[in-house]
Amino acid sequence: MKRNVGMKRLMVTSLLLVLVSTPALGQARQGLKVFISVDMEGITGVVNWEEVSRTGKDYDYFRRIMTRETNAAIEGAMAAGATEIVVRDSHGSARNILPDLLHRNARLLRDWSGGPKSMMEGIDETFDAVIFIGYHAKAGTPDALLEHTMSGNITDISINGVSLPEAGVNALIAGHYNVPVAFLAGDRAICEQVKDLFGEIETVSVKEGIGSAALNLHPEVARERIEAGVTRALRNLDRYRPYKLRPPYTMVLRLKEETTIYSAALYPGARRTGDWEVTFTSDDLMEVMLAFYTMH
Ligand SMILES: [Zn+2]
Repeated sequence: MKRNVGMKRLMVTSLLLVLVSTPALGQARQGLKVFISVDMEGITGVVNWEEVSRTGKDYDYFRRIMTRETNAAIEGAMAAGATEIVVRDSHGSARNILPDLLHRNARLLRDWSGGPKSMMEGIDETFDAVIFIGYHAKAGTPDALLEHTMSGNITDISINGVSLPEAGVNALIAGHYNVPVAFLAGDRAICEQVKDLFGEIETVSVKEGIGSAALNLHPEVARERIEAGVTRALRNLDRYRPYKLRPPYTMVLRLKEETTIYSAALYPGARRTGDWEVTFTSDDLMEVMLAFYTMH
């Protein structure tokens, strides 16, 4: 059969149109800008505070694993088309990731700015997606590793009635700039908490808490799963929505220490609403965040 050239051209043109008009789900998208916030308690193998404290004997060992786990996320992001990657060191001193061991295609944001973005310092509306590595469950979660919320002084933080782990607070900050959280790696408990909060999110559980013990993946296996998971998440970015709550934002903060609850209640606009509870409301999310970080 002899093909009609005109028909063939038409077919090729319509095929191209289909390809151009439907950027397919699951394809790499060039030029993605990705923000990676890295905590340490949810890194593979970590089970004890000593391992995430600068003075701890095994701290250097685990900061290497932390850096490599971050690299796995970077490799995964690059495979999905990321060309600009910012890594935010978010744990303790914010000076844990080893700069020369970190993938050369990422820029590293170290230390605390003092501003309300905290673990999300550096995020703005120019980013396409947020990735969380090494994250842990909120204060009071059973069978979770080193669970807490920001400092040991917080029993709970809720905004508009939603009790939040750090991942939830940080997702709200990203959502403020219309950036969705696409992926989280950490212990099983935080993976479950973010699925409950956000609905769609790709997660990799690197360990399962059994009381304060943990059953861990091998770090190499964890890295493989993180790399593949980040690629999958970023290739399907249309699935994820920026995490938002409706203003006004009412934060209820429950604290443990007598002196901090006393001073938190004196914060301009704050009200003492219980023996260990302070409430603060604003239409501006960043004002709420600033109050939160100042109060505890
Ligand atoms: Zn931490």
